[in-house]
Amino acid sequence: MSHPAKIGFVSLGCPKATVDSEHILTQLRAEGYLISPSYDEADLVVINTCGFIDAAVEESLDAIGEALAENGKVIVTGCLGAKGDIVQQNFPNVLAVTGPHATQEVMDAIHNHCPPQHDPFVDLVPAQGIRLTPKHYAYLKISEGCNHRCTFCIIPALRGDLVSRPVNDVLAEAERLRDAGVQELLVISQDTSAYGVDVKYKTAFWNGMPVKTRMTELCEALATLDIWVRLHYVYPYPHVDEVIPLMAEGKILPYLDIPFQHASARVLKAMKRPASSEKVLHRIQQWRRDCPDLTLRSTFIVGFPGETEAEFEELLDFLDEAQLDRVGCFAYSPVDGAAANAIAEHIPPEVQQERLERFMLKQAAISAARLQAKIGSRQQVIIDALSDNGAIGRSRADAPDIDGLVYIENAGDASIGDLMDVTITAADEHDLWAIADEPSC
Ligand code: SF4
Repeated sequence: MSHPAKIGFVSLGCPKATVDSEHILTQLRAEGYLISPSYDEADLVVINTCGFIDAAVEESLDAIGEALAENGKVIVTGCLGAKGDIVQQNFPNVLAVTGPHATQEVMDAIHNHCPPQHDPFVDLVPAQGIRLTPKHYAYLKISEGCNHRCTFCIIPALRGDLVSRPVNDVLAEAERLRDAGVQELLVISQDTSAYGVDVKYKTAFWNGMPVKTRMTELCEALATLDIWVRLHYVYPYPHVDEVIPLMAEGKILPYLDIPFQHASARVLKAMKRPASSEKVLHRIQQWRRDCPDLTLRSTFIVGFPGETEAEFEELLDFLDEAQLDRVGCFAYSPVDGAAANAIAEHIPPEVQQERLERFMLKQAAISAARLQAKIGSRQQVIIDALSDNGAIGRSRADAPDIDGLVYIENAGDASIGDLMDVTITAADEHDLWAIADEPSC
């Protein structure tokens, strides 16, 4: 090869996989590789796969098949790579297969099949690395793996037990991202509230200050960066209560993405999930007393093996009581290898579907009422996009891609990433409309 080697890259899966992709892309650029936008121009193709549900497996296998047909030299990484030998069985001619979070293994495989042509061009890499999200927000992955064993989930089998990143590394990355113009950090992991358990909350030093490897202390340190900080995938441990005052004081966004999964004590136990619904409701009330602006996002599973109609109705009652802002809901899907597949009789798909629809109908009304109640309120929004006659942003209650948008009529000369104060004028069941309080011109 006379030109710098070109690598094609396909990134599938969740935000955690996106962060893995960013790490690999950053390393590739650091070593002087070019990134190819098409299969036929690439010297080889890396596919970062997802193996979580059957549809994701299909999508990943399709992508591998297409890359092999179009290019022929393919390295597979990500969750599907950790799922036994499914990749090799389907595609014996892939060059290498790794599990997730395996930047070095992927780089080793690339070096074997497509050696770098030059010394590292470290200077060509922006300090913040290569990112796949827009410039004004970024995912900040704080750990890998998970110590829980929820019976419906195979992530611990795919990704292993919890491994927390050193808190000084996480904070240094956050600082670099802020310095590169990022206005919003989305803290992600499999289990954000468990951060540091594996290292016994070890103290490290960041900018000369001691900081414990622990969610609350991490949030306090991130708050000093003076940008939006949003917490995702927070497991409902008791110490989650500690971050609510930081939200009430405006240090981090008043937003908790906290998967409750169900409300029936028996189903939660069968899922190996914590907490009774009464305790959860009590805590939600307390959180809202302490931080009235708090937005709660959660996810639930309906039609779990053995779920009775009465247990499902307990869940509907819980929704009425909890008045959550944003909710995702899935019908139980028997992922290969999940312990829950064997614990009780499966709910017929038509019953699962009927429960899912009843659940979504109830929650849609709750979410819509909560958005309607915002009409007339003042909100701060971050601008994601500009349109002909205004701008599209998100309020502090809206995470990118999964929550709603705010359509602003008179955004003046706003730029992407700007923070803007607006007054809400209308709402539907998902999005808000607003006018800027002090339009710039
Ligand atoms: S806490 Fe999340 S990642 Fe861990 S086992 Fe449960 S569902 Fe899976």
